[in-house]
Amino acid sequence: TVTVGVLALQGDVREHVHALESVGAHAVPVRRQRELDTVDALVIPGGESTTIDKLLRAFELFGPVQERLRDGMPAYGSCAGMILLADRVLGGIEGQQTLGGIDVTVRRNAFGRQVESFETDLDIAGIDGPVHGVFIRAPWVEEVGPAATVLARVESGPAAGRIVAVRQGPLLVTSFHPEVTGDTRVHQLFVEIVRDTVQ
Ligand code: GLN
Repeated sequence: TVTVGVLALQGDVREHVHALESVGAHAVPVRRQRELDTVDALVIPGGESTTIDKLLRAFELFGPVQERLRDGMPAYGSCAGMILLADRVLGGIEGQQTLGGIDVTVRRNAFGRQVESFETDLDIAGIDGPVHGVFIRAPWVEEVGPAATVLARVESGPAAGRIVAVRQGPLLVTSFHPEVTGDTRVHQLFVEIVRDTVQ
């Protein structure tokens, strides 16, 4: 079985651990480099990207995680995690850095006041049937480079057409939080990517 770390500096770590275990992965929280060294892949949870960025540096994990990503470690980022895996961020705070890896530009807190937090069903490439998307002060993807593939867009409402799921090789990002719905198909998709990558 594959071992998937969940970056456990801030954010909804436990929900990701549960979702990963329920699709047959061994899930472990990662707070130290020695824990990072034991995992095949990493999930970066939702939370606050500016805080996770600062804590990554405080825990001396920023460089080591970036190095693993450059070596091809699979990673999945939801919401704040999407921001951290993006090569470029709009609407960040002064000095905010991302780990990068996915050739996209994301906009932080993109959906605006009226739809700051909302839920909508999504059609995601590679997953059968609609997935219920929960968005909480979420980013969207504003530009996608040639190496990245769009997996889902918002279908209706004021944000119709906005890109909310992208894959680039072993990297997967979603604007929404599948870990809070009890539907484990996005985690299943990620664990399949991990298995294909490490085996
Ligand atoms: N708005 C948060 C940020 O910029 C993300 C919110 C979330 O992860 N639910 O990091």
